[in-house]
Amino acid sequence: VAFAVAIDLGGTQLRAALVDRNRSLLRRHAMPTPAKDGAEAVVAAIASAARQVTAGLQSSDIFGIGLSSPGPIDAESGVALAVPTIAGFTNFPLRGAVEGALSQNVFLENDGITAAFGEWTQGAGKGLRSMVYVTVSTGIGGGVIADGRVLRGRKGLAGHVGHLCIDHGGLRCACGNTGCWEAYAAGPAFAARARSRARLAQGSSLHPNAGTLQPADVFSAAALGDQLALSLVEEEARLLGVGITTLLHLFSPERVIIGGGLSNAFDQLHPGISTYVRANAMPAFRDVEVVKSGLGGDSGLVGAAELVFAATAT
Ligand SMILES: [Zn+2]
Repeated sequence: VAFAVAIDLGGTQLRAALVDRNRSLLRRHAMPTPAKDGAEAVVAAIASAARQVTAGLQSSDIFGIGLSSPGPIDAESGVALAVPTIAGFTNFPLRGAVEGALSQNVFLENDGITAAFGEWTQGAGKGLRSMVYVTVSTGIGGGVIADGRVLRGRKGLAGHVGHLCIDHGGLRCACGNTGCWEAYAAGPAFAARARSRARLAQGSSLHPNAGTLQPADVFSAAALGDQLALSLVEEEARLLGVGITTLLHLFSPERVIIGGGLSNAFDQLHPGISTYVRANAMPAFRDVEVVKSGLGGDSGLVGAAELVFAATAT
């Protein structure tokens, strides 16, 4: 027995890897998630991806399957509760279905916790006793390591940091509440702000493509000195700082680690985040560093493999 299979299930992409005891990602496979086709189609896709990366191996060569899923899922019972990004993931027994399809033990965890576990064991949080991981992309997710262990909470649901409220009665969030951090600071909110400002800013290089701007366009223009783009990046950094400051106060991590799509521009966001934290966190928290994820897009895959290795103590 030598390998773990890691599955990182996202709302748009499904990725799999074969990982050995030395934590090398030996084989990879990626495919679109059939997110609109129902739960059985998603389970079939997971099984197919797992078979791709284990081709030629015996089932006795595999310790188990680590599965990272969009939440909220009850990681204790293995049931997807009401996952907004995947059709049919409503009270769906995900762990049992994948175990049935692959005849392997499945270790299931919410995606934010899985990625946090990956960063803690193999990435930018290695060796720390306490850290917070935040992923900023289509939404904002996260996971917390506190006092040397993974914070799971009731049903393994801890760490849904995107839904901490920063403006009660403010913007509507995908979760149904108003004022959630992700409604302000995730990628779509950033893009929406950029589009509405760029429409009015005729002198900006962002103006001609105002209707289709993506975060990457804003970061590129900011790097070239465009004033509107620079102010949009500064505002985004400040909004990230608002949530990060609250996370410092709640969990007192030694480090905050930022992943997800927007972390590709971490160097441009970092000055504004630091400025906000130094000005607004309570003094005792101001020296905590905010860093970019060490594993990039692989935090979830690495974490999923670590779930298996941790459970089987290898
Ligand atoms: Zn929300």
